[in-house]
Amino acid sequence: MKKNIWVIAHHQETEIKPVTFELLNMANTLARQINANVNTVLLGTSVTHLSVRLIGLCDHVYLFEHPLLSEYHYETYQQIFLKTVDKYHPDILLVSSVLRGTDCFPRLAAHFKAHYISGCLDLSFNPQSGHIRYHQAVYEGRSILEGAFKLDRMAVIMTRPHLFAPSMEKGQSETKISPLKISLSPMEFITRRVSSIKTVPLSLGEALVVVAGGRGMQSAGGFKLLWELAHRLHGAVGATKAAVDAGWCEHRFQIGQTGSLISPEIYIACGISGSIHHLAGIQGAKTIIAINQDPNAPIFKHSDFGIVGNVFEVIPKLIQVIDSLGD
Ligand SMILES: Cc1cc2nc3c(=O)[nH]c(=O)nc-3n(C[C@H](O)[C@H](O)[C@H](O)COP(=O)(O)OP(=O)(O)OC[C@H]3O[C@@H](n4cnc5c(N)ncnc54)[C@H](O)[C@@H]3O)c2cc1C
Repeated sequence: MKKNIWVIAHHQETEIKPVTFELLNMANTLARQINANVNTVLLGTSVTHLSVRLIGLCDHVYLFEHPLLSEYHYETYQQIFLKTVDKYHPDILLVSSVLRGTDCFPRLAAHFKAHYISGCLDLSFNPQSGHIRYHQAVYEGRSILEGAFKLDRMAVIMTRPHLFAPSMEKGQSETKISPLKISLSPMEFITRRVSSIKTVPLSLGEALVVVAGGRGMQSAGGFKLLWELAHRLHGAVGATKAAVDAGWCEHRFQIGQTGSLISPEIYIACGISGSIHHLAGIQGAKTIIAINQDPNAPIFKHSDFGIVGNVFEVIPKLIQVIDSLGD
């Protein structure tokens, strides 16, 4: 029987996030090798209008709309995916690590005794052995592990954004769109969300450009400069532990061993020395630019471009140049 790869779509109310197209590229590439269908799940309060963006990119789009999905709650997602797996028996669930739900997928894998691969970098089929081979980033990206599994049971696979080109080409000639045939009731949940804090528009994991600050930014006021630069570059702001510990930023902005692992196209380190704990979080960054007044700062050894200078002089000049370029 044909195998089924399920991609969990990531979206905002008005648009499908690029990471979904990256997952579809990965799914379609593997599907061609193992002769599988690619199905996409779209969850939300009102997502039907988004399904059109997925036409031609997968075999089937399954929609699930429910008022309980207005806010993320892991119990809700857990219920949805438990029921979906029970009903549809996907062979592979492909998820991005920036998707809401990263907390529910390891649990899901454990529940179904599935293969579970986090930090997956690629997937390919070996027809000789019948195994699916993968590379996986471990120890905060300091090591790459090579592994293989047989599709004798479900596999839950989590990848990071920006590893694959987004799939925008039409692959499938026909894409079916239908509702996910499961039900959801508030009675099934033990906890209820009372309120939620405002989140930043762009998450660190998704951003193509990350402007991060360290102790060299000197204060929460100094970080405002980073927000201004990030805003102009359509990027997100990150921080070192030192800046977070000083109270200039919330912990959710921390990058590194005990913070987020990111893989943006461009990473700009401002007033950051480049400790191993911080570098652990930026292994996936494609281009690293450092601004530091100390020419011997370790960050320069790990940077593609370096500016030796005072952040309070360099960043305003960068902002000025960007502004002079216009839109
Ligand atoms: C178990 C453990 C886990 C950790 N996890 C993390 C983690 O997840 N993430 C993390 O970031 N750290 C982590 N740390 C802390 C880490 O070891 C470093 O202490 C921290 O990263 C240093 O932050 P920093 O670069 O902002 O500060 P510093 O090391 O103090 O560097 C500040 C830099 O700013 C430069 N500077 C100062 N003023 C200016 C200026 N005006 N213009 C330009 N440059 C200037 C200085 O030359 C210096 O290089 C962890 C530590 C431990 C022990």
